[in-house]
Amino acid sequence: MQDVGGSKSVWVGKLTRREFRERRLQGELSVCLIPVAATEQHLEHLAMEHDYRSCLYVAEQIALRLTPHVAVAPLMHVGISEHHMKHPGTLTASPGSWIGVVWDGVRSAVEAGFDHVIVLNGHGGNISPLEGVWSQFLQRYEANLFFKSYWEFVDPDFANACLKTGRFPGHAQEFETAIAMAIFPENVRMEAISDQLDQEPRVATAEAGQKILDHLLEKGGQFVDSVRRNEIKAEIPPFH
Ligand SMILES: [Zn+2]
Repeated sequence: MQDVGGSKSVWVGKLTRREFRERRLQGELSVCLIPVAATEQHLEHLAMEHDYRSCLYVAEQIALRLTPHVAVAPLMHVGISEHHMKHPGTLTASPGSWIGVVWDGVRSAVEAGFDHVIVLNGHGGNISPLEGVWSQFLQRYEANLFFKSYWEFVDPDFANACLKTGRFPGHAQEFETAIAMAIFPENVRMEAISDQLDQEPRVATAEAGQKILDHLLEKGGQFVDSVRRNEIKAEIPPFH
């Protein structure tokens, strides 16, 4: 599916402030998806944009499925990637700075009046730092907030049945390589796999990537729609 652009776009940044205001008044755009990811080394064969490119794709496709209820507010193409810095080209944010910007993004979305806010993650290194403070987000804003990595939408048994290595999600391995082959094949340099230690990506196929993606978008769409319908509510930890 493709975004129609203009006043009906799913991207917050494509709308004018008037269009945003009026669509909210009409009851549209009740859910805000905030993709956060990384720009970091993905071995010799996969482009460094992989995490944010795939995360934005998932966010856009879920929003399109649920049009006009979901808006996408891209926040950060950079993540916490200190552990990948020995490979030049990787960009990283200090954990504290990164959490601060995510916090501000959530606050901006809550103040904009979204009823539900989902931070959609595309990078493993962001998970434990953000999980460490997530209960404070919930207590501070008392809103229907969620933090999800997009691969959590996939049933691991389903993914492992599609993958030859059974390694899911992994880093730059069969899963991520297969996803890239399916949706942005120009990011994959199959010939470079022989120059790296990890040979697992060699078995990746676009067919497996597409199969997992179809499942992922189906399940991800169901999750976001359940949040929108208040069938899934964030649990706000008790105050002491
Ligand atoms: Zn990755």
